[in-house]
Amino acid sequence: AQVFSFSAMRFSTASSAAVDHQKSLRVTNLIGGQFTESRAQSVIDVLNPATQEVVSQVPLTTNEEFKAAVEAAKKAFPSWKNTPVTTRQRVMLKFQELIRRDIDKLAMNITTEQGKTLRDAHGDVFRGLEVVEHACGMGTLQMGEYVSNVSSGIDTYSIREPLGVCAGICPFNFPAMIPLWMFPVAVTCGNTFILKPSEKDPGAAMMLAELAMEAGLPDGVLNIVHGTNDVVNNICDDSHIKAISFVGSNTAGMHIYARGAANGKRVQSNMGAKNHAIVMPDANVDATLNALVAAGFGAAGQRCMALSTAVFVGGSQSWEEGLLERAKALKVSAGTEPDADLGPVITKQAKSRICKLIQSGVDNGARLILDGRDIVVPGYESGNFVGPTILADVTSNMECYEEEIFGPVLLCMQADSLEEAINIINRNKYGNGASIFTTSGVAARKFQHEIEAGQVGINVPIPVPLPFFSFTGSKASFAGDLNFYGKAGVQFFTQIKTVTQQWKDLPGQGVSLAMPTSQ
Ligand code: NAD
Repeated sequence: AQVFSFSAMRFSTASSAAVDHQKSLRVTNLIGGQFTESRAQSVIDVLNPATQEVVSQVPLTTNEEFKAAVEAAKKAFPSWKNTPVTTRQRVMLKFQELIRRDIDKLAMNITTEQGKTLRDAHGDVFRGLEVVEHACGMGTLQMGEYVSNVSSGIDTYSIREPLGVCAGICPFNFPAMIPLWMFPVAVTCGNTFILKPSEKDPGAAMMLAELAMEAGLPDGVLNIVHGTNDVVNNICDDSHIKAISFVGSNTAGMHIYARGAANGKRVQSNMGAKNHAIVMPDANVDATLNALVAAGFGAAGQRCMALSTAVFVGGSQSWEEGLLERAKALKVSAGTEPDADLGPVITKQAKSRICKLIQSGVDNGARLILDGRDIVVPGYESGNFVGPTILADVTSNMECYEEEIFGPVLLCMQADSLEEAINIINRNKYGNGASIFTTSGVAARKFQHEIEAGQVGINVPIPVPLPFFSFTGSKASFAGDLNFYGKAGVQFFTQIKTVTQQWKDLPGQGVSLAMPTSQ
């Protein structure tokens, strides 16, 4: 029972009265199947990062509305849990079809609110779509285990059951993919869900929620509340919420991990990164340079798996010209421009933070061989653009190295040997991903074996696993035990019940108080 269409609203022309216009920009919550406007007085403007145009306004959901969302999710749980897994899968099967139907609209919304290029925005949706496709096999994925005759006439089996109400808290950089990492797996396991999209770009999550409802997800199975710290803290504290999926920065992630766990919840928390590539002298030159530039500057460096640091074994000098040439050739413009390679960064604050970290590198003795700070994009003069930037001779004590920059900045470091390069990476606190570029199997194997990172690429720059594996960040990039999607994702959203059954004619054996043992 939808009373309001977010996508229709988003693309409608402005109404005559300014007041109505203000009102129509408001993003709704989704509570118990109703897309309803929040009563909140406070809103946050969602700005197009290429133009500063106000695209929509996100309400700071009130406590009452949050409680209503939890109630709706609680109410929907018993019948959704008892809905056959085949039916739940079929909703996902329809959902993936609808995402494909609307992928252009979704991508346009992402580009408008987040800034990435349209092509990259398609990828954002597509990588999430793959998780929905994977969830279509939930019957197999959540299979339990069975051992017959563990003792005479006794069998033991385990069943994976949903937890109840689960929640997801999302970052700004993948407005479609990250929500799709979370709720499709959770609800197909039989849970109900409360999603808190990023307040910076909630549009794609709303469109996906509409599609999920159109696909047949019953009222209350997926609920959406907007806001920032207060609503997140409500999620951490509410005793009816059993599990929290978080993706975002370390500050927020560790807070949510600690507060959620203190309230008895399971939490999976994917956080920040500093991903390195080791470049061996024997690496294929062209392929390696192309990979470094694509993975360093794609999405304006706002990917948790962006390659932000290249460690050149044997020196970077011979690689710098090729890097420069390729980076300079990239076109920086609004993501809607067909020839744009990278768009703006998310906010003015993000731009100034990135520029500050670049300057700190220069102040600490790094060599700025390409400076994108003063870029002006014709037609988009007020956009938050940072052009590709390369800092060479970076060392591990520099602030620009210690901090996650999350912008189009590639740091170049040097090492005398593979051993030294591996040590540099292993000393870094983050452990999301790391790659090696080499034609030596021996070097590749040593790297794979010794590197302390959750996702390892060998001649692959951004090794984000497909959904039949899991996204496996480690060290400070992840907190929790069960990773996102894949087998671990299903385990995260289910709990095990182990049943021991005895079906045999029971001869009278008398009472024995000794510990039962297998007979
Ligand atoms: P963020 O932490 O600022 O925001 C993420 C979410 O947390 C938002 O919904 C926000 O409202 C909420 N939040 C922020 N601060 C909070 C606080 N103090 N208390 C409670 N809630 C809070 O992150 P972001 O800037 O949106 O995203 C960028 C970060 O996400 C980067 O660090 C990036 O590496 C990381 N990221 C990690 C992965 C991964 O899989 N490891 C994937 C994507 C992004």
